[in-house]
Amino acid sequence: MITAKARAVDGPNKSFRAAEIKRRELDSHDVLIEIKYAGICHSDIHTAHGEWGPVNYPLVPGHEIAGIVTAVGPSVTKYRAGDRVGVGCMVDSCGECENCQNGEEQYCLKGKVDTYAGVDKYGEPTQGGYSTHIVVPEDFVLRIPDNIDLDVAAPLLCAGITTYSPLNHWGAGPGKKIAVVGMGGLGHMAVKIAHAMGAEVTVLSQSLNKKEDGFRFGADHYYATNDPETFNKLAGYFDLIINTVSAKIDINAYFSLLTLDGTLVNVGAPAEPLPVQVFALSSLRRSFAASMIGGIRETQEMLDFCAKHNIVPEIEVISANQIDEAYERVLASNVKYRFVIDISTM
Ligand code: NAP
Ligand code: ZN
Repeated sequence: MITAKARAVDGPNKSFRAAEIKRRELDSHDVLIEIKYAGICHSDIHTAHGEWGPVNYPLVPGHEIAGIVTAVGPSVTKYRAGDRVGVGCMVDSCGECENCQNGEEQYCLKGKVDTYAGVDKYGEPTQGGYSTHIVVPEDFVLRIPDNIDLDVAAPLLCAGITTYSPLNHWGAGPGKKIAVVGMGGLGHMAVKIAHAMGAEVTVLSQSLNKKEDGFRFGADHYYATNDPETFNKLAGYFDLIINTVSAKIDINAYFSLLTLDGTLVNVGAPAEPLPVQVFALSSLRRSFAASMIGGIRETQEMLDFCAKHNIVPEIEVISANQIDEAYERVLASNVKYRFVIDISTM
């Protein structure tokens, strides 16, 4: 067994504490990674707080992982010691079902293995990236391009792919009018990526406080959703809306902003249901969809796309002792735009 230092939480209302966790000895296809940086995703908070259902505590969250390979199992062919690598939201899948075969491992019909709060094929609970080391099968390890520093690479492994995948799938590009609802960790990546894909990008944020940042990230327009006039002005305008909001919002108001055959894709994952008014969709044959992260092949494609277009997240690096404080600031929408833990402070 390999011992790793970590930050763990023992229950929904508990603070993070120092912990030691065990990582398995390398199996033939496993890679041992020394983690350098781990991003804080709002999903970590939903999970740590038990909002999505029961959790087996102690929990070590973290699925935006960047680090260096320090050892590989005997059958590993893709990586070797010294490689700069990343790990995202999943660390395994069946590999055999139709979806896995098509490179959509996130939709594995037998269920992907989540990086934390999951159970691996050995029957052991998985623990995430707020830790010094992790062992992952090589097929779930990503290569970080040379021109992307490890601290800013980390958030790409979730916030990057979660926004890239639906933008890609629903054809973001020149001539497409796209709105991004909520400009936090995911939202600011959606703005940068959609802009690089050539789409016209509008931010729909609660207020105009971050307007200058939005334009700097590549937005063409920026509106406040706390101003009812926004919904009159933009009625029927967008081809695609990516909703990244972590809380329950009046989703029907946003459907009214879609054009004929437009689609609203939810990537935000609030614990409560979002009630749908069917007429808000049927009046212009609109679609309501949702999307979960992206497959491994597409995640590598996203990393290479970001490297090519010089896209990285805006981050605030924190020490391991500041996780609780960072969670509070994310919950208050006071994040610019992703907290990343410097694992050397562990
Ligand atoms: P985040 O950094 O907290 O960003 C969410 C943004 O939503 C906030 O910055 C804020 O933007 C807006 N917002 C928050 N509360 C709101 C409210 N009550 N009403 C209106 N707007 C509100 O979170 P994140 O890390 O980007 O994650 C966002 C959501 O996506 C979470 O639910 C997370 O679990 C989910 N997620 C899903 C996937 C997936 O695969 N589908 C992957 C990762 C994360 P403004 O200040 O601009 O309004
Ligand atoms: Zn995430």
